Formats: sequence, C-alpha cells, structure tokens
Amino acid sequence: RIRSLYLNDQDRRCKGIHMDLSKLSGHIWLDGEMVPWQEARVHVLTHTFHYGLGVFEGVRAYQTPDGPCIFRLEDHTDRLFRSAHILRMDMPFDKETLNAAQRAVVRENGLDEAYIRPMCFLGSEGMGLRADNLKTHVMVASWPWPSYMDPEARDRGIRVATSSYTRHHVNITMCKAKANGNYINSILALREAMDAGFEEALLLDNEGYVAEGSGENVFLVRDNVLYTPELTSCLEGITRDSIFRIAADQGLTVKEKRITRDEVYVADEAFFTGTAAEVVPIREVDHRRIGSGTRGPVTETLQRIYLESVRGGQPQYADWLAPVVN
Ligand code: PMP
Repeated sequence: RIRSLYLNDQDRRCKGIHMDLSKLSGHIWLDGEMVPWQEARVHVLTHTFHYGLGVFEGVRAYQTPDGPCIFRLEDHTDRLFRSAHILRMDMPFDKETLNAAQRAVVRENGLDEAYIRPMCFLGSEGMGLRADNLKTHVMVASWPWPSYMDPEARDRGIRVATSSYTRHHVNITMCKAKANGNYINSILALREAMDAGFEEALLLDNEGYVAEGSGENVFLVRDNVLYTPELTSCLEGITRDSIFRIAADQGLTVKEKRITRDEVYVADEAFFTGTAAEVVPIREVDHRRIGSGTRGPVTETLQRIYLESVRGGQPQYADWLAPVVN
C-alpha cells in the first residue's frame, strides 16, 4: 500500500479522526473574536479564494510536563508577518494579539497537542487585481493532528522521488513568503510522487539544484557533516533552524550550500524537517538506497533530541516553548 508521509483520508478514518474539518466542533479565532467552529465562514467572493494571495503558518503545540506548549510560537508569528509584508498585506493585528490568539485556540478547544493554522486572507471587498481596497482578515484554527509520521516512517525512513516540477523561481512567486498560492506547486509535486509509489517529492530549483520537499526542508549527512540548501532555494524553515542549533550543540557542523541531485544519492544519510513532518529519515531517492537504507545514526540523534525538545524533555531548549496557559 502506498502511504504518504501525510495522513490520508483512510488513515484518518482508521484513527477515528474526522475527515471533514468543517464538521469539527470548538472555536476558531476570526478577526479578533472566538467564533463557534461551524460559523467560521467566508463568502465565495473572497479575494484570496480566487487568486491565492494569502499567507499562513503551520504551527504545533505539544504536551509538556508544564502543560501544552506551542513550539517556537514567536518565530512562526514573525514569519507570518514577514510573509504579509512581502505580499503587501496590511496586518490589522499586532504580533502579541496573534500570539495570544494561537494560545487561546489551543486552550479553549481543550487540546493537549494540536496543529495550529493561522492564515491571513484578503476579503470580499473587491475582486480586481489591483487589490488596493481590500481588508486583510485573519483566522487561527487548531485541531488534533497527530504526527504526520507513522512510526515506521520515523524509524525506517521514507522513499522519495525527484519531482518533475521545479520549485518556484525566486522571481516568480515570492518564496520567502509562506503564501497560499505557492502550495499549488507542492500539491502537484506530492501527488505526482505518491502516484508513482513514493511517499514524498524532492523538488529541484530552477537551476537544477536540490531545493526542498513539498512541505519540508532537506538535509544530507556525509562524513558527519550536515549539508542543506541555501535559503535562496528553500523556505526559511523553523525546524531547519532548530536542527542547526541542536546539531551545533552536538558538535556537528552544518554547511548551507548548493546540492546536486546525485550528491543526495551518495549521502550517508538524508532527512526532511518541517513542523508537520518533524524529522523524517529518507531511506531511498529515485530508487537509490541512501546510506544503509534505513535511519542513520546522526539522523536518529537529531530526531530524538528534536522530539524530546518539543515536549519539554530538553531543558536547554525551554526557550522554544510557549505555554498556552500563563
Ligand atoms: N519548505 C516548505 C515548502 C514548507 O511548506 C515547510 C513547512 N512550513 C517547510 C519547508 C518547513 O518549514 P517549518 O520547519 O518552519 O515548518
């Protein structure tokens, strides 16, 4: 059976997770107010719905000994504001308000662990491409979304294919913005990979160098040195940054550089990082076994420390955790 890194509908059904997100209950923060889940609606003439100019974040809250905490909350909110700035969306709220909103949706929905989705979109005040008379609206939802990794993927790694789709060119869409419309590219790439029997896609940049996964940054390990693409070819991932710090604390060197597709084939280890995917080993790329063909020792160490950190098990990284109750 082909299994995606991401939970599909079948997996959701098996795990008893509702398939239709609109049917969940609880509250969603919308434009400054907590709105009952079923009433958090927008009109079909909403501008972002038509053209995809919006910005969002994917954030996670984890259970820790001090109660549920949001991992790197302020860093996610900062990136959301940078995305909005790039796309010239006027933010109607300040960062403190959005940090509080993210804590509130976890707290008020009674969640121990949660995925949090803040999103800023242009409203139905007009449809033109001038987009100069539109209001930015903001929503923040949260719901239980267990690890995207099943235990087998976490321990053994996943099979990946280089995508026939090129990752966005830096002067076509603004890649530093985590923009809604950018994800058409990711969806096409992921579906292509899954249709071909792989679990994730590896996209190359427009010059043919390794860029990133459909929703993850990528790392290689060779001779105990970590390599990852420069930020001109990938999203400035917050998990990527967390791995930089963890790796440095483990005495490992991380080098940002251009990486070719065949450098991946001959790596000792490779792994993806992302808020949703966490740290996932890659065991095969384009039918080439990577390293020993299972999770390597460097990946295992970094993955273990990351997964302990998000749940408060590594006191030196306590500054990454924002309690939802304070
Ligand atoms: N690249 C892309 C294209 C992504 O969508 C994501 C997920 N936000 C990442 C990388 C990883 O970023 P982060 O670690 O901040 O989740």
